[in-house]
Amino acid sequence: MRRLRNVKIVATLGPASDDYETIRALYEAGADVFRLNMSHGDHGEIARRHGIIRQIEKDLGRPIAILADLQGPKLRVGTFANGEEELSEGQDFRLDLDEAEGDNTRVRLPHREIFEALEPGSSLLVNDGKIRLKVKDCGKDFANCTVTVGGTISNRKGVNVPDVVLPLAALSEKDRRDLDFVCDLGVDWLALSFVQRPEDVIEARGLARDRAAVLSKIEKPAAVKNFDAILDVSDGIMVARGDLGVELPVQNVPPIQKRLVRKCRAAAKPVIVATQMLESMIESPMPTRAEVSDVAAAIYEGADAVMLSAESAAGSYPIEAVTTMNNVAREVESDPTYREVINASRGGHKETVADAIVSAAREIAETTNIKAICCFSQSGTTALLVGRERPHVPILALTPLVGTARRLCLSWGMHCVITGEVDRFKQAVISAVRAARDEGFALSTDQIVVTAGVPFNTTGTTNILRVAPCEERLIYSADPE
Ligand code: PGA
Ligand code: MN
Repeated sequence: MRRLRNVKIVATLGPASDDYETIRALYEAGADVFRLNMSHGDHGEIARRHGIIRQIEKDLGRPIAILADLQGPKLRVGTFANGEEELSEGQDFRLDLDEAEGDNTRVRLPHREIFEALEPGSSLLVNDGKIRLKVKDCGKDFANCTVTVGGTISNRKGVNVPDVVLPLAALSEKDRRDLDFVCDLGVDWLALSFVQRPEDVIEARGLARDRAAVLSKIEKPAAVKNFDAILDVSDGIMVARGDLGVELPVQNVPPIQKRLVRKCRAAAKPVIVATQMLESMIESPMPTRAEVSDVAAAIYEGADAVMLSAESAAGSYPIEAVTTMNNVAREVESDPTYREVINASRGGHKETVADAIVSAAREIAETTNIKAICCFSQSGTTALLVGRERPHVPILALTPLVGTARRLCLSWGMHCVITGEVDRFKQAVISAVRAARDEGFALSTDQIVVTAGVPFNTTGTTNILRVAPCEERLIYSADPE
């Protein structure tokens, strides 16, 4: 099964997409990566969905990436004696560690570390920013606040503290348990919520021990500020616009999105643009024009992937939402303006032999009648460098490692094929030609570009480029020695 677009689609699973038939239909409609949200669903449910995806992978013979999204240190208030309270602008409201149930004057905020980090003037946002509090004075176990925007506050509502770098462990106890559980289950990507510092990512990597690649969700002002250092230690990035638009003024989100997408492409690391992309499709089979335009804009900018959250997890039209993204992607990518924008934003990264080879592969494909760039990759790094070139012909990423093939599914343009172990270049060319023909990318009269590293089975050695004909003689009668 071959996609007719390069940008990837991430679909979150949930109650609306919980059985084999629906998840398979989502894949067939265009979902390349499935996201398991650890904020919802117990381990039994997560394991069941994971098992269904792996079964679909087997039945369709295509690698599929699974991304587990860890909840992260999400702050929540305690409970109220009446379940909820109405806060009005100008009134006082106190947050403290007192275990008594809350009322109209106070509520528990069960995070001791937060009080130490607050300062008079800090703002606290409750319930996705619907209610705003400003700290008047505070101590080690309380904060007296003024309500600056009123509204209804109720049990366990989320709290954001945008302007303070919180001395919070990036991973809660629950996150650590979840991380170990999903790594053992065999997910390909871990997404870290509310990353603030590069150390947060390094800690998670240590716990993941290479069982999964690590993606940082950028949803805190501190993460935007420390972005370069965070990108350096991450395998991928998510522009998590939901929380980002609560923690920062919403109008700051588009320029941040553009900047982050560019930096990720320059670093050859996948970037997902996420949240509210087709929000109205939770309830309607048709998106708004503004949503279609938002998906298109992310693709024009060069994002690796666009994501569905509640649209596919809890909405009434999960398959229609994926189909919409797929249609928008195909239309954008066939627009000559898209090509112009992509070409104009290509950097001149020629620092290593691998950089030069992938750039040459793209140039050869542009000047001659080449049908695909086939690249052998162990860790996936060379495939990502080919992807950064954003060639106009398909990329076939060939690897003997199923984990590499699955992780690459998140990246722009990758059509991943698992090959047998290859130890000679001639053999590599034969298996590239076979893959290109079997998967419908080339005919016997076509040519492909093959890149690889010799000796084989070592990481980071790409040093060969060959233009190969796809004729019968080569694939079926050549001596693989
Ligand atoms: P969430 O992350 O859906 O886990 O909150 C995405 C976002 O904040 O945009
Ligand atoms: Mn979030």
